[in-house]
Amino acid sequence: MEVSVLRIGHRFVRDDRITTHVALVSRAFGASTVYMTEVDKSIKESIAKVGNIWGGESDFNIEIVQDWKNVIYSWKKNSGKVIHLTMYGINVDDAISEIWKLTKALVIIGAQKVPREVYTLADYNVAIGNQPHSEIGALSIFLDRVFKGEELKKNFRGAKLRIIPNGKGKRVREASDGDIS
Ligand code: SAM
Repeated sequence: MEVSVLRIGHRFVRDDRITTHVALVSRAFGASTVYMTEVDKSIKESIAKVGNIWGGESDFNIEIVQDWKNVIYSWKKNSGKVIHLTMYGINVDDAISEIWKLTKALVIIGAQKVPREVYTLADYNVAIGNQPHSEIGALSIFLDRVFKGEELKKNFRGAKLRIIPNGKGKRVREASDGDIS
């Protein structure tokens, strides 16, 4: 399934780190594009640097958009479904079997309160539990449910460095062509 993320809203300075983490989580846990509004353009450079070292640079995009509604409309026009993560939605466990049938999903997360319209434009309003927490927490759990944990085993193409998993410390080596899957 192709999954993209739309982040609506951003509080300047205060949200800089959170917004960067939204992009890092999207990239690391299997999304292909993150659309962001009102964000500092330097975020694109920071994430490109991560992709350059750890791989997948050309498989993940950040798009800074002026109008979030246009992203939703064009997504729907291209046969994609829209999933809004909100504490007011239906439990992820009650929606996931429908979501697994989709081929294209746009996942919407907010920064603060999202405009009311998002609830009606979404095909699914999905809760990661009905307690308030965070867009990063919600997105992480949602992507893990969608990809059933497989996203954690993904081999990112074109990495310069690879981690050799180690229970006692850090081991890193230069990547080779044989690593590409
Ligand atoms: N009280 C705010 C509201 O009315 O939406 C919560 C904002 S929260 C800081 C930012 C984003 O985190 C929300 O827009 C939503 O996407 C996500 N979020 C927070 N708790 C969630 C939950 N329990 N389930 C799904 N998404 C959640």
